[in-house]
Amino acid sequence: MVRRALPERTCVERTCVGCRRRAPASELLRMVAVGDGAGYRLRPDPARRLPGRGANMHPDPACFALAVRRRAFGRALRLTGVVDHGALAEHVDAPTTTSGHPDRARVASKVGRPT
Ligand SMILES: [Zn+2]
Repeated sequence: MVRRALPERTCVERTCVGCRRRAPASELLRMVAVGDGAGYRLRPDPARRLPGRGANMHPDPACFALAVRRRAFGRALRLTGVVDHGALAEHVDAPTTTSGHPDRARVASKVGRPT
């Protein structure tokens, strides 16, 4: 294994939830989930300033597509239930599939709220 002597503070690496490659945080798009009771919406956070747990992804439609296919957003952000990634798709300029199956909601029904 090659160990590069990069100063850690100035070169924070994050893993892209799409392609799973590591990249400097500055090259990745941060996103956070905003819950509204019925589910979550992903909100792009280019300035990396929104509070809460974030996930990181290359601002690339290909990585977005991979992440959607793997449901990587929900996993990375510890979400249960429906995740709406429309805003994120717009942000990375991904073709949105309007063909009628948003993330299947089967998980949502059996997961109760922690009390
Ligand atoms: Zn990627």
